[in-house]
Amino acid sequence: MSGKPTPMMQQYLALKREAGDALLFYRMGDFFELFFEDARVAAGVLDIALTTRGEHDGEPVPMCGVPVHAAEGYLARLIKGGCRVAIAEQTETPDEAKERARREGTPVSKSLVARDIVRFVTAGTLTEEALLEPRRANLLVAVVPLRDSVGLAACDISTGRMELEECPIAALDAALARLGASELLAPDDWPDAPADIIARPRSDFRSEDGEARLKTIHQIATLDGLGDFSRPMLAAAAGLIAYLEHAGRGTLPFLLPPVARGSGAHLAMDAATRASLEILEAQGGGRAGSLIACIDRCATGAGARQLAEDLSAPLADRGAIEARLASVQHFHGDPLLRADVRGVLRQAPDIGRALGRLVAGRGSPRDLSQIRDGLAEARRVRDMLGARPDLPALLADMCEALGGHAALVDHLARALVPSPPTERSQGGFIAADYDHALDSLRETSGNARKAIAALEARYRDGTGTPSLKIKHNKVLGYFIEVPAKHGDKLMAADSGFTHRQTMAGAVRFNSIGLHEEATRIAEAGAHAVAAEEAHFETLVGEVIEAREAIAATAAALARIDVAAALAERAVEGDWARPEMRDEPCLEIVGGRHPVVEAALARSGERFVANDCTLAQANRLWLIGGPNMGGKSTFLRQNALILMLAQAGSYVPANSARVGLADRLFSRVGASDNLARGRSTFMVEMVETAAILSQATERSFVILDEVGRGTSTYDGMALAWAVVEAVHEQLQCRCLFATHYHELSRLAETCDALSLHHVRAREWKGDLVLLHELATGAADRSYGLSVAKLAGVPAPVIKRAKAVLDKLEKGREQTGGLGAGLGDLPLFAVTAQAEEARPDPLREAIERIDVDALSPREALDTLYALQTTA
Ligand code: ADP
Repeated sequence: MSGKPTPMMQQYLALKREAGDALLFYRMGDFFELFFEDARVAAGVLDIALTTRGEHDGEPVPMCGVPVHAAEGYLARLIKGGCRVAIAEQTETPDEAKERARREGTPVSKSLVARDIVRFVTAGTLTEEALLEPRRANLLVAVVPLRDSVGLAACDISTGRMELEECPIAALDAALARLGASELLAPDDWPDAPADIIARPRSDFRSEDGEARLKTIHQIATLDGLGDFSRPMLAAAAGLIAYLEHAGRGTLPFLLPPVARGSGAHLAMDAATRASLEILEAQGGGRAGSLIACIDRCATGAGARQLAEDLSAPLADRGAIEARLASVQHFHGDPLLRADVRGVLRQAPDIGRALGRLVAGRGSPRDLSQIRDGLAEARRVRDMLGARPDLPALLADMCEALGGHAALVDHLARALVPSPPTERSQGGFIAADYDHALDSLRETSGNARKAIAALEARYRDGTGTPSLKIKHNKVLGYFIEVPAKHGDKLMAADSGFTHRQTMAGAVRFNSIGLHEEATRIAEAGAHAVAAEEAHFETLVGEVIEAREAIAATAAALARIDVAAALAERAVEGDWARPEMRDEPCLEIVGGRHPVVEAALARSGERFVANDCTLAQANRLWLIGGPNMGGKSTFLRQNALILMLAQAGSYVPANSARVGLADRLFSRVGASDNLARGRSTFMVEMVETAAILSQATERSFVILDEVGRGTSTYDGMALAWAVVEAVHEQLQCRCLFATHYHELSRLAETCDALSLHHVRAREWKGDLVLLHELATGAADRSYGLSVAKLAGVPAPVIKRAKAVLDKLEKGREQTGGLGAGLGDLPLFAVTAQAEEARPDPLREAIERIDVDALSPREALDTLYALQTTA
């Protein structure tokens, strides 16, 4: 049977069309219901029961539902599961619907409450405390291509921060890797758009609209005062704002004035570099095992978010780096101050996010109290910092931003109870003595409650029924209840009681006195709630008025938290303040890899510190030695030290002199992880090509076993050519780990290249890896010993040894893999290669013993040389 859909089904289908690919949460009483495919998806993600309800087109309609009071938890799981949700609320009560039906002349019995989508909940537009991770920023990013470049707009609506930038199309992947968006928007007509975008109409991305919207939002006549924004930046901003408006159904969340991110202000790192250095996420995914997990000692969520941002985008400006280092040093040198400030910060609520909710119209009395407490704590931090002399400039600036809220804090303190509820419909959050009218309403209802207690006593005496009780429930309100056997006494016509309900064991009554008191309670209660509501609106208005100053305070607290936390970590790990230099050097004494060091410490092992000394004239280290010897660890620790230094942190070393880098590249030769369906070797080469085309003299590159993903000959040839190119063309600082012995010959032709190896020793037939770096080429390969160490059975090792002996004999006879490589002209046919060729004239001159010649002989020799030439 396929009849006309019911009115409710029609309403549902219309809303679903509006929701598009978002799951529709359809409000029915105390539940949000999902139907059809939405129900299947949600039941799967949430692991809840899928049922059916009614029929549509002759088929049962799949359905599942979640209770409204628990909806946040379910939403969180759906968002995590990659879904977007449209919330359709009832916009009138059933009574209002009936009234409307009467007015419109439609049958009242068939009246349907109106519903409307009030909001889209998506990963990038969350503000709820329960749905956000406290220690991670939640970014919504819009990208739009415009001629040769792309505009990016990034915003964290939980705190209102917004950043615009422009970059060449080639640098887009790196920029996106840095941002790590929760949701990515792009125009729908872009064939080369990055993966996993939400396609939005091209007409949303008009730069004029972006400019106009930003001006209205921030009520300014021109954007010039905020920074220099290009067309692509404004086009991206337009797309972002349009989406926010769509998600909020016309209401915009809190947005701070946008900041233009200049290119070149940061140490550039591409996606592969970030992944291989495991900065915010370990290789397997997740924070555990990452650099940030190892160094984050922040006391607040906002601090942790700031630290993540600092590590994602280390600076390239020496002044800015020194400013951060000075503030870390301030806390480093003053343990008491550090402990005090961190103690206060630990108590401080996340005012940035509370503010975001309040401005978005989703705030609660609890959020107001968080602002109150957070601002009060900020003031305490300011007093602590201000009390010490010699405050570094950055901290002094931050201090400045911490104060100025005295009047607001005072007002909130007077107005609110100490810990207000998150729910405001029941009232109870405005403090006593704040509003006398509210106090007397409360008194009235309090008095009425007392009066009811007195009535109860009086009725017990009067009727001689000690078991008489006055009770309250939602349906009846207040009533008098006696056990069934005493019911008759109160039933009498002149008793003053009117019968309301007979239950199994009890009878319920009303009385005029009780009715009067109950009415007083209800009226006073309703007035009190209305009064509290009005105060709430006023207080929220005041907070919104001060939003930019509050956001600045939140940012300052986060920055201070990061400085104190980095100092804490430095003390804990005995780290040093890096000395920043302009010339491209990297001189590290006693360097460690913080993550490996911490992992070893957990199993009671010691990390062997190693030095690194790169300079202009010795800028490329070729590092050999056995597998598992510590090559990768050494490469990465130096990259991390450089990166941490430029992020403004102390570094895991006894001392470090770090020349500013413009870009950092890290590449690891093909291992067994397949990326994006390409062969591992292909990935390796694509990534290597990116380095060769992008690195400059100021870059720092680490290359780990590049060339390993293919046959020995190919691999070695490629590794050889890459080393030459790095040395001759890029001329950047580079650490290159390889197990190809043959590459050590490059030392003969590349004068800024030096040979190093990780040491190992054979002891009583077993291999001991010392994890210690030494100069010179590795003396031999330890492959078989490593295999033995790894537990490969003895017969296999024995057989391998026999094969190896045979191979090595062959090598001796033919000169081996590297035979003839020494004669190969260099990569860019350089002057050095020319020089290396034998020159008879030069040789003849060198043979002359000048001191032994008489003047006559000297003249003869000159004639002879002339004929040679
Ligand atoms: P390779 O790149 O030479 O194969 P790795 O750098 O991967 O070697 O190191 C292998 C293991 O050796 C690491 O997982 C770590 O446990 C240990 N290791 C590396 N470097 C050190 C060090 N400096 N001190 C102590 N142990 C180390």
